[in-house]
Amino acid sequence: MLQDIKSLTREELETQFAAWKQPKYRVAQLLEWLYVHRVTSWEAMTNLPKPLREKLKENFSFQTLELLRKQGAPVLRSNTAEGGRDTTQKFLWRLHDHSLIESVLIPANPALYGEASDRHTLCVSTQVGCAYGCKFCASGLDGWKRNLTPDEIVEQVLAVERWHGVQSKVESRESSAGSRPSSLDPRLIDNLVIMGMGEPLANYDHLLQALRILNAPWGGGIGARKITISTSGLAPQIRRLADEPLQFRLAISLHGATDEVRNKIMPVNRKYPLKELVAACEEYQGQKGRMLTFEYILIAGVNDSIEQAKPLAALARRLFAKVNLIPYNKVEGLPWERPAEEVQEKFLAALEKQKVIATLRREKGHDIDAACGQLRLKIERELKTVPA
Ligand code: SF4
Repeated sequence: MLQDIKSLTREELETQFAAWKQPKYRVAQLLEWLYVHRVTSWEAMTNLPKPLREKLKENFSFQTLELLRKQGAPVLRSNTAEGGRDTTQKFLWRLHDHSLIESVLIPANPALYGEASDRHTLCVSTQVGCAYGCKFCASGLDGWKRNLTPDEIVEQVLAVERWHGVQSKVESRESSAGSRPSSLDPRLIDNLVIMGMGEPLANYDHLLQALRILNAPWGGGIGARKITISTSGLAPQIRRLADEPLQFRLAISLHGATDEVRNKIMPVNRKYPLKELVAACEEYQGQKGRMLTFEYILIAGVNDSIEQAKPLAALARRLFAKVNLIPYNKVEGLPWERPAEEVQEKFLAALEKQKVIATLRREKGHDIDAACGQLRLKIERELKTVPA
């Protein structure tokens, strides 16, 4: 199978073009078609000579994602100041081999990943399914199928921005404000969270290659400090990440502050128990000097007691971590429940009392099969029951 053109960095393309005796400016033209105009075919690259396009076609694939479903409000308003509130949008994509993955577009939320702005965050997937089998998660329910290639990670951003371009055109036509060329609209996504389907650090090399492309000024143009990589606790890969030159943010999907609780809901903890995970996080911090984030899904009767808030606060203080509390989204077929709002608020207050910086997600996406992997699971099972 051919490598996809969007899996290559500028330097790699320059090497390839040099071998083909093509001038360097052709690489700049190609990159502009890919990442500014976000075209979906070789034919659209009209200023590249036809023989070069043919050569590219013979040597590289050019895959795009097919939008199978979208859930959320029908219209995305980029100007929330007008009173229209952005809502979370979930995209279900079909890949070339018919695998399904999800991406989630999250509107600006000052409480989550830093300062307020009109920015949008995209949560992207890194694998089809997941091998890690966290007990509360829909993504791991049908196991792991394969790693995403770098272009499949990059393309999630481009495909959402293409969708937004079309959406903006429709809005602008409806408001008779004159149409703007969608491909030249400012980029929509300026924050990435790598916490969709899959364990990101289990697909380390492809993820890092995709992030080099999404971070580059000629590519996605998303600052490394605006990219948060999440992991369920792969200690060796956290250490490896500490040695990367780019300054990504790191989020630990903790969900339990003692081995007892983590062992119950996250099998990865048996391989890398808290002691080892904390040591890797300390090493990461020693190298990067950056604040960590703990993601903590509150599950009724499992990890939402005030007794759990104590060790969580101790860990957060030790690692200078901020805690994002996320009330559990019910997954069909799983026994877990979301705690009552009062319990959520008490847990938050207990952390704050112990001088921990913490936020509680007071919900976005609750109605749209919001739990990671849930939409994919639902549609995949529906498709299996429909005769071909
Ligand atoms: S929570 Fe993350 S690591 Fe755990 S099963 Fe789900 S996708 Fe995999």
